Amino acid sequence: MIHSQNYIGGEWSIPTDGELIVHNPSNVKEQVGIVHLSGASEVLHAEQAARSALPGWAGLSPAKRGDTLGRLATALEANVETLATIASREMGKPISEMKGEVMRGVNLLKYYAAEGVRSHGSVIPASEAGVLQYTKRVPLGVVGIITPWNFPVAIPIWKIAPALLCGNTVVWKPAEFACLTATKMIEIFVDAGLPAGIINLVIGKGSKIGDVLLEHCNLNAISFTGSTSTGQRIAAICARRNIKYQTEMGGKNAAVVLKDADLDLAIPAILSGAFRSAGQKCTATSRIIVEREIMPSFTAALQKGMEALIMAPALDAKAYLGPVASSSQYDSVMSYVTMAREQAQVVAECKSDVADGEGYFIHPLVVSGVSSDHPLVQEEIFGPVAVVLEADNYEHAVALCNATIFGLSASVFTQDLNQGLRFLDDAEVGMVRVNQETAGVEYQAPFGGTKWSSSHTREQGQAALDFYSEVKTCAIKYS
Ligand code: NAD
Repeated sequence: MIHSQNYIGGEWSIPTDGELIVHNPSNVKEQVGIVHLSGASEVLHAEQAARSALPGWAGLSPAKRGDTLGRLATALEANVETLATIASREMGKPISEMKGEVMRGVNLLKYYAAEGVRSHGSVIPASEAGVLQYTKRVPLGVVGIITPWNFPVAIPIWKIAPALLCGNTVVWKPAEFACLTATKMIEIFVDAGLPAGIINLVIGKGSKIGDVLLEHCNLNAISFTGSTSTGQRIAAICARRNIKYQTEMGGKNAAVVLKDADLDLAIPAILSGAFRSAGQKCTATSRIIVEREIMPSFTAALQKGMEALIMAPALDAKAYLGPVASSSQYDSVMSYVTMAREQAQVVAECKSDVADGEGYFIHPLVVSGVSSDHPLVQEEIFGPVAVVLEADNYEHAVALCNATIFGLSASVFTQDLNQGLRFLDDAEVGMVRVNQETAGVEYQAPFGGTKWSSSHTREQGQAALDFYSEVKTCAIKYS
C-alpha cells in the first residue's frame, strides 16, 4: 500500500482530515494506496512555507535555478518505470503511454532548465540621449498550481518547471485521483536535492481546500487545469481578488475528414485521438465530421480499425486503451454510453475482451444520427465515445467544427494543400493540425485554447514564461 503525503517547507507529513482508499481502476479489488486529506491549516502552512522560501529562490540567478531543474530532469529520467507504474495503477493510463508521459515531463524540465541561460528581455531605444531603457522578467511570487488527474505527471511539470525557472515558489494541489503519483514524483525530486520550500505539495479535496487556497491565501498567481465549471469558479475569484490566473479547461475537439482524405492515414490518427487514454484527454477527438460522399468507405475503415483495438489492464504492455480512471468517471461516461445507445445509431464499436477485467472498462463507441445541438455533440464526455456528423462540403464541415462553446484543438484530413491551409485559418481553436490527430501537441509549442477551453493564456514552450513572470521596464540615465 502506498500512502500519499504532504511535502511542506522541506518536511514530509501525513494530514489527518480524512482519507480515500485508491482502488486500481484496472482491477477494483486491488487496493493501491491511501490518500490522506488536508484541511485548511495545511494549506495555510504551505503558503507560508512557499513565501519564506521565495527571497532565497528568487534571488538566485536564472542559470542556477535552471541547474536545479536539470538535476530534477536527470532524477526523473532514472525513475520513468517506477513513476509510470504507480500512475498506471492509480489512474489506469496504459503503461506504454504513461512512460511516454513521464518522458515528456523529463523533456519539459530539460527545456526550462536551458531557459536559465537564454535572454529574457529586450533593449528598447529611448527618446532621450544618454538613457538605457530595457525590460526584464521578474517573478510573480507564490504561485498556486491546481492540476487534474488525466496527465498526472506532465501537466504538473509543465506548470511547475516554468514557474520555478522564473523565480516563483509553488503550492501544488494535485487531483484526488493522482496523489500517490504526486507524492512519488516529489520524493524523486527531494532525493535529487530539491531545495526546501520551493515546491509545497498539499493533498486534499478541491471542494474542501480549494476555497482556502483561493480565498484565504495571498497567492500571486494561480494556474489551473481541469473542468470548465471549476475553471469558471476559479477565474471569478481570481478576478475579484486581482490574482493573475490561467484556467485551461475542457474541449470537444473535431477531426474533419474531407472527401479526398487518405483514410490509411486518417483512421489511425482518429482512433488514437479518440481512444488513447480511454478518451480522457482535453484534446481527445470527440466529434468526427465526415464529408457525406465518403461516409460508406469511412465507416468501413473505421469499423475495421476499431475491431483491432486492444482494451486491457493498464500494466499490460499490449493495451491500446485501459479503463477510465475512477468509479465517478465510469458512471459519468456510462450515462453518455446509455444515451448514445438509446438516441443514436452505432457506427462502429470495439468489443475487445478484457482479461482479468474487473475494472472500469468502457468499450470504445462511435455513433451518428443525432443533430448538431444534441448533448452527445455539445458536451465533453471525457471517455471513449465519439460522434460522427455528416457534412455537405468543406464550408459545412467548418461550420459544424466551430459550432461549440469549446475551442481547444481541431484537425483536418485532406490531401489538398489549399483545403488544409484554409482550415488552419478557419478553425476557431487554439491548436489546429492537418493530417495529424487532435491530441499530441509537442511540449516546446504553446498549448491552450479559445472560447470556454481557456482563459486565453498559453502553457508550455516560451508562452509559459509570459504567464509565470511580470515584465519590468527599466531606464537608466547616464552622462
Ligand atoms: P476538475 O475540475 O474536477 O478538477 C481539477 C482540479 O481542480 C483538481 O485538482 C480538483 O481537486 C480541483 N478542484 C475541484 N474543485 C475545486 C474548487 N472548488 N476550488 C479549487 N480547486 C478545485 O477536473 P478533473 O476531472 O480533474 O479533470 C478533467 C477535466 O480537465 C476535463 O474537463 C478536461 O478537459 C480538463 N483538462 C483540460 C486540459 C487543458 O489543458 N485544457 C488538460 C487536461 C484536462
